[in-house]
Amino acid sequence: MSDHDIDPTSPRMAPKPEVTKIDGRELKPSTLMMGYGYDPVLSEGSLKPPIFLTSTFAFPSAADGKRHFEGITGKRPGGADGLVYSRFNAPNQEILEDRLSVWDGAEDALSFSSGMTAICVLMLAYASQNDVIVHSGPLYAASEGFVAKVLAKFGVTYVDFPAGATREEIDAVIEKAQAQADEQGGKVCMVYLESPGNPTNALVDIEAVRTSVDAAQLDCPIAIDNTFLGPLWQRPLDQGADIVVYSLTKYVGGHSDLVAGSIAGAKKWMDPVRMLRNTMGGICDPNTAWMLMRSLETVELRMNRAGENAAKVCDFLAQHPKVKGLGYLGMIKDARQQDIYDRHCKGAGSTFSLLLKGGEAECFRFLDSLKIAKLAVSLGGTETLASHPASMTHLSVAEGRRAELGISDNLVRISIGIEDPDDLIADFTQALEAV
Ligand SMILES: *Cc1c(COP(=O)(O)O)cnc(C)c1O
Repeated sequence: MSDHDIDPTSPRMAPKPEVTKIDGRELKPSTLMMGYGYDPVLSEGSLKPPIFLTSTFAFPSAADGKRHFEGITGKRPGGADGLVYSRFNAPNQEILEDRLSVWDGAEDALSFSSGMTAICVLMLAYASQNDVIVHSGPLYAASEGFVAKVLAKFGVTYVDFPAGATREEIDAVIEKAQAQADEQGGKVCMVYLESPGNPTNALVDIEAVRTSVDAAQLDCPIAIDNTFLGPLWQRPLDQGADIVVYSLTKYVGGHSDLVAGSIAGAKKWMDPVRMLRNTMGGICDPNTAWMLMRSLETVELRMNRAGENAAKVCDFLAQHPKVKGLGYLGMIKDARQQDIYDRHCKGAGSTFSLLLKGGEAECFRFLDSLKIAKLAVSLGGTETLASHPASMTHLSVAEGRRAELGISDNLVRISIGIEDPDDLIADFTQALEAV
């Protein structure tokens, strides 16, 4: 190894303390994304973190190796205080996890190879045989399937409630879940939310769920999938959630070029999940972690622009004679939903549902006529995407349940990107003309 003529005793070689405040002023996440959790001094002065392609890490001494393994195996809580092996953690993932924590005001975060890996490992870490999961509905189809089909194999059951439920309705659901758990000889192990629901954008009252869980004295975490509004437009830990869940594939990655996931919250909630991730694997790979750090530098810019674009596009669509309605958080019709929005959300997002006059045929005509917007599932990327949930993402949902969830044949889901807004409006104009 070359020392590049740097004197190791020079102050230039000493790691710098992390700067999160200047004169008592807390630095904002958008500032911290450019350097937080990384010190160039430790990597030959490289301004950006190198990608650490290594499966294992050399211990300074045998005693250090022992101490690290005490952390990994849970003999000491909180994980290892040094790097051991890349299934447990590695530099790119650690920096990424530090930066993800910043956005949600969380003590700790864990990264995963996909949103679904994050969700599955999280649920497996908390559910024991005969337990009950309480969840809002609808959930992302794969999350709903994991609870109903995979956890069911281990005797775990669930009770669900519609996203817009009131405090009284949530109380009743929790009471039912406790009775179900007593009967099965288990406990209520998790309250799992997703807000807003996809594709209808119905919001869950997180504050009401918190009050309800506390009143019932449930000793379990409230987790919430914040993929649709996070990290910019909703910070659920501020409303009383314990664990925030992301598919980083969407707004955080933001360029439709990677798949990853994360969870964040207090260390005590992260530790059991970290232990299971250590055993199972499923941690994000170093290259993807590096790409996500690049994405986090622009996440605020991108989300702001996409949000502004969506507001302009929705203003246009709302006036159009071929449009029956919009499921857009900037144009809520229901007073209770508006109240939840005002208490929980900092922005209306850029993913919404468009209800056309007609049915599947009209939607297909519209989708096939789009010239800028791409016909694809997913959301939160730089490009505008459109899809037809009833025949695509929600095709496996039974027709009765689809109707209950408001996923009608005339519904198109749109995720607005960061293109020029007038170009997008021109595209939607010509596609609507073709219907
Ligand atoms: C995409 C998505 C997921 C799954 O994430 P992957 O990264 O595709 O595994 C989970 N929840 C929501 C709300 C999503 O949109």
